[in-house]
Amino acid sequence: MSDWEEDGDDDGSRRVSAKPSPPLRERGPAGAPPPWAEGGGRPRGSRPGPAREPWRSGPLEYRPRGPRRGTGRERPGSPPLSFRLENALVGTLIGRGGTKIKELEESSGCRIQVVKGCYEAEIKIFGDKDKKTKAKVLIDDLMERCSQSSAEERCTKADFFKQEIGTTYYNENRFGVLKSENNNPKQSINWASLRENKAKYEALKWADLPPIEKRFYKESSKIASMSQEEVDKWREENNNITCDDLKDGEKRCIPNPIRKFEDAFQHYPDVMANIKKVGFQKPTPIQSQAWPIILQGFDLIGIAQTGTGKTLAYLMPGFIHLDLQPIPREKRGGPGMLVLTPTRELALQVEAECSKYSYKGIKSICIYGGGDRKGQISLVTKGVDIVIATPGRLNDLQMNNFINLRSITYLVLDEADRMLDMGFEPQIMKILLDVRPDRQTVMTSATWPDGVRRLSKSYLKDPMIVYVGTLDLAAVNTVKQKVVVIPEEEKRAFTRYFIDTMKSKDKVIIFVGKKLTADDLSSDFGLQGIPVQSLHGNREQCDREQALEDFKKGRVRILIATDLASRGLDVQDITHVFNFDFPRNIEEYVHRVGRTGRAGRSGEAVTLVTRNDWKIASELINILERGNQAIPEELTSMAERYKQFQMKKEMEKDLGRPHGKSRKGF
Ligand code: AMP
Repeated sequence: MSDWEEDGDDDGSRRVSAKPSPPLRERGPAGAPPPWAEGGGRPRGSRPGPAREPWRSGPLEYRPRGPRRGTGRERPGSPPLSFRLENALVGTLIGRGGTKIKELEESSGCRIQVVKGCYEAEIKIFGDKDKKTKAKVLIDDLMERCSQSSAEERCTKADFFKQEIGTTYYNENRFGVLKSENNNPKQSINWASLRENKAKYEALKWADLPPIEKRFYKESSKIASMSQEEVDKWREENNNITCDDLKDGEKRCIPNPIRKFEDAFQHYPDVMANIKKVGFQKPTPIQSQAWPIILQGFDLIGIAQTGTGKTLAYLMPGFIHLDLQPIPREKRGGPGMLVLTPTRELALQVEAECSKYSYKGIKSICIYGGGDRKGQISLVTKGVDIVIATPGRLNDLQMNNFINLRSITYLVLDEADRMLDMGFEPQIMKILLDVRPDRQTVMTSATWPDGVRRLSKSYLKDPMIVYVGTLDLAAVNTVKQKVVVIPEEEKRAFTRYFIDTMKSKDKVIIFVGKKLTADDLSSDFGLQGIPVQSLHGNREQCDREQALEDFKKGRVRILIATDLASRGLDVQDITHVFNFDFPRNIEEYVHRVGRTGRAGRSGEAVTLVTRNDWKIASELINILERGNQAIPEELTSMAERYKQFQMKKEMEKDLGRPHGKSRKGF
């Protein structure tokens, strides 16, 4: 058995933590110095042998994904070459999305394993002796280059500040850095001065930018003359639109909704021609209220789901905004519009929507992790007007100076709640540091939790907000929801039964909780001769795109997916949602169910619930009740049992307090 197999998956990490590798010197050939000992070539931060073993407590192991690779002539049980690296350097070794470590593995023919500890990581190299040495040299090289480039970067940053704010100012103020009297080069940062002068630095940073034009709305006389009653009635009849002005102090007048495309775009014949070309009859509710707000130059928050026409709601005003800036597009030195989306699928979908329209030669590009990085860089450097991107990859291109974000005047944060759920806040923050603060910003979200409110406060200026429908049941009112309480071990048989009873026109997404289950189920069904596709975060980008394409075009009628597909996917003819595993929370349930019953069609959702899901039983009952759906007795008794269990637990907690020290004081 190879080292890889011995150490395979979850098992391996436990073994490593139980028995850390002995020091390298003990393991190498007698008396032979480790390769990095020659010529003092030890990388910055790497140390030989485990003097301390901080990784003993709770190791975190990194292993590059992808097919298992044998290492040729390695002997079974041959000890790995191991050394330590500061945790801060592990990112450099692994590289974005594991690209660097994969590259190192491929070049050396070894397998490299990283076991992260509290302060340091243990790096293990598996393979035959020569290859291990080669891998070590490559890693040392990488660390050396990394330490040189960070030193250079520090110098460049100082130069940049000098150029940016002027040498005199730099020398006089040291940009908040004080030199000690004896000219000791050791410096300390004067945070107070930095904070005090923040506004000045901000102004200097953006001083040379051209002005922005944001107002493009000419209200038609018909819309201007609508009475308040007419406006209210119209909003109520159109998915219960509600609006608010989030500006502090005196409120501004919220523009009346438009009822026809001409009401918003009669002065923009190219937009009208595009709308005619695609054959839309009338604006969707979000469009009718969002267009007049955005075209008046206000920032906007749109609380609306995918399928409501929200993409066009921000794209059309964006086209006009891009075209009518005081500086012509070709002279801006970079893109004018940026759309940030949480997933590659959504980014591609927005791109597809964008490219349906041809507006004055505006060019768009999609930038997402997992896609061809070189190709994306080459397109971006050739010049584009609209960048549609996922935060991680864009941040990568930004940090490596492949993209200029200073030219952006129109920013969209699409599905902001999803971006927060996926942990993209730090990347968004870094990206927006380089986007001028007086831009126009539109944010969409399906929900309005605290995190999204916080984001809107940080990145939008005095926005107006438009809610379309309510999240609760608007999405699931048109869907017949069936809940089946079932033992865990019978779920597969039931799913097979469901598939066997599908009609020829039916199309179903089977939602599962884990990527592994998705793989497992799809290979099971594949072996049984049932054509399925699967979609989850561990699949290669091209496979994910293929899966979606097959499902959209109806080449397969069953898609097995994780919650990656619960939002944002615009496939109109899904007849069924089948929840093989219950989702993490009730909100995700609503999103999943909302994948069917779209565009006025009816749909059906089947949800398997096991005894492990008893925590959510009462919330699920609420949703079912409000949608007038049947509630199985087992679900009601499950909710009841959970309630009693909770009460019992509370009582035991209270009684169990030493010497009757109860919170309630008895
Ligand atoms: P979205 O909510 O942006 O994902 O849009 C969902 C679908 O609605 C897309 O396929 C759009 O092309 C389509 N759509 C957008 N606006 C309209 C409209 N006014 N009338 C009919 N369909 C529309």
